[in-house]
Order: sequence, then structure tokens, then C-alpha cells
Amino acid sequence: MTANIKVAERKCYINGQFVGSGRQFAKINPVDGTVVAQVHEADRAMVDAAVRAARAALKGPWGRMALQARVDLLRKIAEGIEKRFDDFLQAEVADTGKPVSLASHLDVPRGAANFRVFADIVRTYGTESYHLDTPDAKGAVNYAMRKPLGVVGVIAPWNLPLLLLTWKLAPALACGNTIVAKPSEETPSTATLLAEVMHEAGVPAGVYNVVHGFGPDSAGEFITTHPGVNGITFTGETATGAAIMKAVAPTVKPVSFELGGKNAGIVFADCDFEAAAAGMSNAIFSNTGQVCLAPERIYVERAIFDPFVAALKSKAEALVLGFPQDKATNMGPLISRQHREKVLSYYELARKEGAKVVTGGGVPKFGDARDSGAWIQPTLWTGLPETARSVREEIFGPCAHIAPFDREEEAIAMANDTPYGLASTVWTSNLARGHRVGQAMEVGISWVNCWFLRDLRTPFGGAKLSGIGREGGLHSLNFYSEPTNICIKL
Ligand code: NAD
Repeated sequence: MTANIKVAERKCYINGQFVGSGRQFAKINPVDGTVVAQVHEADRAMVDAAVRAARAALKGPWGRMALQARVDLLRKIAEGIEKRFDDFLQAEVADTGKPVSLASHLDVPRGAANFRVFADIVRTYGTESYHLDTPDAKGAVNYAMRKPLGVVGVIAPWNLPLLLLTWKLAPALACGNTIVAKPSEETPSTATLLAEVMHEAGVPAGVYNVVHGFGPDSAGEFITTHPGVNGITFTGETATGAAIMKAVAPTVKPVSFELGGKNAGIVFADCDFEAAAAGMSNAIFSNTGQVCLAPERIYVERAIFDPFVAALKSKAEALVLGFPQDKATNMGPLISRQHREKVLSYYELARKEGAKVVTGGGVPKFGDARDSGAWIQPTLWTGLPETARSVREEIFGPCAHIAPFDREEEAIAMANDTPYGLASTVWTSNLARGHRVGQAMEVGISWVNCWFLRDLRTPFGGAKLSGIGREGGLHSLNFYSEPTNICIKL
């Protein structure tokens, strides 16, 4: 059974008010193809109103607010999310189709945690200061102060909607910025609920604005090209990041980009076999493979290649593709039929490129409402050359290619032979090898004997085509603030 979800209306939130638009689009539930929300698309004038409200708020009570008061507000927002935990959960699940077990464990709690983490970190955020002592400068004091960047355009993807949006909002607000946020057109709901929470918490009008819509010739482009926006933080596809770079060039805005990946997993024969198989299966299939950090290329040392492939196959076949509310469900649908077309085109391509399909490869048949959704089978392949497009391009689905290797250097070379550089996961019981191989990965985050674990104060982001800059802890605060260097000759 799907939940009893009424069709919600998702308006924009501009200058402290929910605002409708003449143009609306339907948000479809990927579980069963029903409409879950009517979304009000912001036109250029609405985005302009949001930017103007955000600019005004920089000079209003928000701009004058003491740091401690801002920190208290961030904590109140976290509490507000927790108070309405079930509303956020239902909205996230209705938009994405992800299992309740996942969203209640990950998406919603992390949405609240992000505000608390940055409330803590910003309180101890210091700046540098030096006393000059050359003969002509003696007695001068030189220090830097950090001011808000200004109006920040936040453009978010659909795979972890609340988690990734708040990952940007919390540090940006902690630094005193104001926001014009555009959630993905596929996941408009939790960003809108967050506006209600901010309103209730007493966040001044204009500080947090939400404009719904798409990318080109819609809210996304209107934000990136707006001269009143001081910086863009974006998570999404690499190609979109490149388009945004072009769009911001004339107004020279700083960007923080978390982009795509084609991540590698390396499994050595000396690993804890059961832990590696369970960990790798979780990494490949979690959130239906729609995690930027998910490994789609698995390299397994030849001595354990066959049993490891067999273990991954049996784990894939044990996944329960069910309605989100069912406790047994551990895999949901893809985000949309459109995305399923893309993933299926890679399933087809892999076959044409000569893959042996170990399991999956198509669309499951349920005989119920799910047949109108965006479901897809978890899929594993072997036998492809490293040059195959399905081994080189990001698919963003529940699938991976598994290849054998004989030597450590060979595994490292294959893992790094990609234009992307987001994440990797290495499994070995040899501590020295864990460090050595982990450090050799050309990525932003390199896991050994685990995946996805991370202290939120550490740097997060991608190398190569996977991003620009780092977020997390002080790295976020550095992006969302503008240093002014002050030198005083006493
Ligand atoms: P996407 O690039 O299609 O869309 C992301 C957002 O950008 C959406 O809100 C979309 O409306 C907007 N957008 C699209 N074109 C735009 C334009 N020209 N100007 C301004 N805004 C525009 O990405 P997606 O399909 O929502 O998300 C999946 C992608 O995100 C994958 O490539 C995945 O790897 C990546 N991702 C990366 C990370 C990371 O941390 N590196 C995290 C999650 C997802």
C-alpha cells in the first residue's frame, strides 16, 4: 500500500510569505505514478523578488543580529524539524519513493543535525591576526575579519533532498548570509516545509527564500545569472556544474560545486569477506544507487573474484523492492520514469558492449500499483573492458560492473583511470595497505573498510570533474564568508 497522501500544494516562499505562481507543474510519486504535489514554478520576476528580499534582509534585523542569537535560531530550526519529523518524513518519502526506514534513519535526522553542527562550529570560528615588526611597519596590527558572502544561491539535487539542502543552508545561515534556494523540481516538498519551520522559529523575512522550478530558462538559471546573488553553491551533475560556471562568469560569482562521480571500490583477498560483501552491496544499492558516493566500478582481487561476485549477486537478489512504508523494504524506485529511461539505456548499452549480466538488467513486474512507478532491478555485470562507456560514465542507478585484478598497483591504476574523483572504498585487513591504497586514490574522500561514514567537520567534496572546493566544518564557513583584511598602524 502507498501512504494516504493528499496532493500537496508547494508554493514558493519569498520575503516571509508563501507565494503562488500562474505556472504549475506536477510532482509524480515514483512508487506508483500518482501525483503527490502541484508545484508553483517561479518566473524571473519571482526570483528577482526573492533576491531583492534577500538583499534587503542582509541590512535588516538579520544583518544586525548577534552571533549568539543566530546560533540560537539555528538550534530552533533543528528542533522545528524534529518536532515535525513525521511531516518531513512523509514529504521526503512521497517525493522520492525511498524506504521510510532509510529516510527516518538518514535524511530527516541529518537535516536537523546539519543545523546543530554548524551552530556549534560557527561559535569557535576564529580569524588570523599578526603583529608586523619590520622597521617601517612596527606596531602595525594586521587581522582578517569574516563577513557574510551576501545573498547565496543554493541549488540542490533530488537524491538526498533535505540532507543536501541543509548541508548548504546551515553553514550559509551560520555565517549570516541570506538565501535564495532552489530545490530540485523532483523534490520540492521538504524545502517548502523548511520554510514553515523557519517562519515558526522566527527567522526574519527575506533570510530564507524558496523558488521552485527547473534549470535552463527557469528558476535555476534566473538565480545563477542574477547580479544580486553573491555566490552559488550547487550539488548535481557535472554537466550542470559546467553550465552554471558559464552562467556565473559575467558576474564573477564564487562557486562551490559537489558534482558527479564514477566511484571505484577495491576488494583485496585479505579482506573480511562477509564485511566487505555486505559493505559493498550497501554502497552499490543504497538509495537505489542514487548516491553520488556509490561505487559503480568494483575491482576484486582474482583469488576471491568468483565467490565475491556470487556474494554480491545473492545480496542483490535478496533486496526487497517494496512500498516505502513496509518495514521489510530496503530498495525503492528510481526518482522518475525519465531517470529510469536513462538508467535502462545504460543497461542496454552494457549488454551491447559485451557485459555478462550477473543479475538484474531490467524492470521488475509486480502486478500492482508499482507497475506504474519507476522501479528497476538491481543489476551487476562482469566482463566489460575498462574502456566501455558503461564502465566510464556515471549511471546513477542500482548497478555496478565487477572486474578482477591481480596486483595492488593494477587496482590503483584502474580505480584512478577516470575523469571523476569523488570517492572510493577499499577493503583489506592489511593496515599498511589500507593506508597506502586509501591515500593513492585520486578522490575527495577515500574510505577503508567502510563507506559513507564521516565526521561532518571534515572536508567533503570531489577532485577532478567531481567538484570545486570543499564543504564540511570550517571548509563550509570559509566559502560562505568573505574575509576583509584590516591593517592598523598604531
Ligand atoms: P542535476 O544537475 O540535473 O540538477 C541539480 C539541480 O540543478 C536541480 O535543482 C536542477 O533543477 C538544477 N539545474 C539544472 N540545470 C540547471 C542550470 N542550467 N542552471 C541552474 N540550475 C540548474 O542533478 P540531479 O539529477 O538532481 O542529481 C544527480 C546528480 O547529482 C548526479 O550526477 C550526482 O552524482 C550528483 N550529486 C553529487 C553529490 C556530491 O556531493 N558530489 C551529491 C549528490 C548528487
